[in-house]
Parts: sequence; structure tokens; C-alpha cells
Amino acid sequence: MRTFTYERAADAAAAVGAVASHGRGTKFICGGTNLLDLMKLEIERPTHLVDISRLPFTVIEDLADGGLRIGGQALNSETAADARVRRLYPVLSEALLSGASGQIRNKASIAGNLLQRTRCPYFYDTHSHCNKREPGAGCEAIDGINRIHAIFGASEHCIATNPSDMAVAMAVLDARIEILGARGATRTVPLADFYRLPGNTPEVETVLQPEELITGVVLPPAPQGRGVYRKVRDRQSYEFALVSVAAIVAVEDGTITAARVALGGVAAKPWRMPAVESALVGRPATMAIYRSAAEMALQGAVGRGHNDFKIDLARRALCRTLAHAAQGG
Ligand code: SF4
Repeated sequence: MRTFTYERAADAAAAVGAVASHGRGTKFICGGTNLLDLMKLEIERPTHLVDISRLPFTVIEDLADGGLRIGGQALNSETAADARVRRLYPVLSEALLSGASGQIRNKASIAGNLLQRTRCPYFYDTHSHCNKREPGAGCEAIDGINRIHAIFGASEHCIATNPSDMAVAMAVLDARIEILGARGATRTVPLADFYRLPGNTPEVETVLQPEELITGVVLPPAPQGRGVYRKVRDRQSYEFALVSVAAIVAVEDGTITAARVALGGVAAKPWRMPAVESALVGRPATMAIYRSAAEMALQGAVGRGHNDFKIDLARRALCRTLAHAAQGG
């Protein structure tokens, strides 16, 4: 690991101000569950770390409109266990509990979860060619072992996936990311617009600027229907999704009245499918309809060889998750 300097930010203004005074080599650190691994491998090489773990953004609070605001430094474990999250947003609680391990969830923050890097093995192997790690170097995954890679939204420069379970649930909840920038400027970005697809610049993964700090996530009032998160992985614990599904479905008198669906593990961002959602509404809540929605959802998917199986896996996982959510979770 390379040497770096360290400071603990006294407040949010000091944290974002540190980037201006220490330059682009500055990184925020909270739980450090991904960043420290990347630093040991010298994939991330910060010259200065700003510890934001003591900032007052750990609270989960009710909003006047019936929604919830989750502080950016709230822990994954505390958020998953919060009674309001479990009651109003079970899809989020289930997604959080399916991620990583108990130890990591006790350390990892909500903002850190949003910003974790891909688990593409070539990204972590510094002897491999990787455009995300070293722009212009090439992408070894495209003709390599690409079993865990994207079937949607990839480019010829990168086929990596986003590893967050939490973000997939937040996508169907229409979450918004609160951001604090230089000189106190604030902005809010819908989660749907937060992540970037790889295109020509796979090293740029979000719309967040280097000096900007995620201070919270706002959840609108709970949507109609019951939410379910289903994760398919190679082992039952401490493993990233091959495919995951977040679904919220409302049914009245046997007819689907509302539906929200997103896939995880299939793209560089949670893959929300508004056309599939629209196609479900007004249809009978039957397996035939879920199967036809799943067929429609996977129509544009592109396999790269080793990951071809994900297309059928996602189709079946989506069908079962819709059925589960329609039955009330
Ligand atoms: Fe790097 Fe992306 Fe290719 Fe993986 S898929 S090797 S992260 S460029």
C-alpha cells in the first residue's frame, strides 16, 4: 500500500473543503470495506483520506410527506433492521440483508454501498488489461471468463456489472441521492440518473464529482403493493448476485394495479424496466402474465459466452419474484 495522509473531518463543510485543499488525490472514507481492499491492491491510490465516519449523517428520519431519509453514513445493518424500513420498504431491508456478511454490514455505510466498485476479477487483477482501472488498456473480460458480467447496457470498452444489492431495491423505490458539493452547494439526483453506463469511459461510474459527498438517500412514501428482493448467487452467503430482482406488485381483485421491477447483476446500474411495468398493469395476476413479462424483459439481453446462462436465469428469477410479490411477499 502506498503512503497517504489522513484527517478526520469535523463537519461536512470541512470534508468537502479538504478535497479543494488536498487536490484530486483525496478520497472520502467511512467504513472502508471496499476502498481499503482497493488501496492494498494499489487500484485506488489516494494521497489523502478524509474520514467522514463521525459526520452527523447516520440518522434515519421520518419525512413530512410520509417518506424516509437515510443518512449517507448510516450503517447497512442498522438500516436493514430499522422498523420503518422493514415495515414500509421490505424490499430494501431484504436487499441489504442479502449483501456481504454480517460483519461487513456492521461497518459499511449507505453511501459506501452506493459507490462500491465492480467485482469484475480482471479489475482486481492488476496484471490484466482493464479499461476501468487503466483507461485505454483494453478489456480482458470481453473475450475472457465473463460469467458474472453484464447482459444489458455494456459497451465494447467494459462489460462489468454493478455489485450493489441495495441500489437495485432503491431503484424500484424511486430513491433520490442527496449530495453536498463545494462551498455548500447541494443537489439531489434520482438514483435512476446516478449511475453511468460504461460507453467510452467505463472509469466514470457515477455523476458524482470528486469533491462531492453523499449526505443521504431520500425514499418517497412507500409505493402501493408488497416489495420482494430475490438474489441468485453461487453460494448462500457473502457472495455477489449473478442475477437479482427487486419487484413491487399490487393486486386488487386478481388484477395487477401497480408494478415496479428492476434487475441487478446484469448491468453497470440497476436495470429498471418501465415498459415491463406498464405491460403488467391491468393484467390478471397469473403465472402466464408473469412469464410473458419476463420474456419481454429479457428481449434485449446480450450474452458474451460464459454469461449466456444469465439470460434464462434472469427470466426465471423475474417470473418467480413477480409471483411472490403479487402474493404479498
Ligand atoms: Fe475492466 Fe470492465 Fe473489462 Fe472488467 S469488464 S476488465 S472492469 S473494462
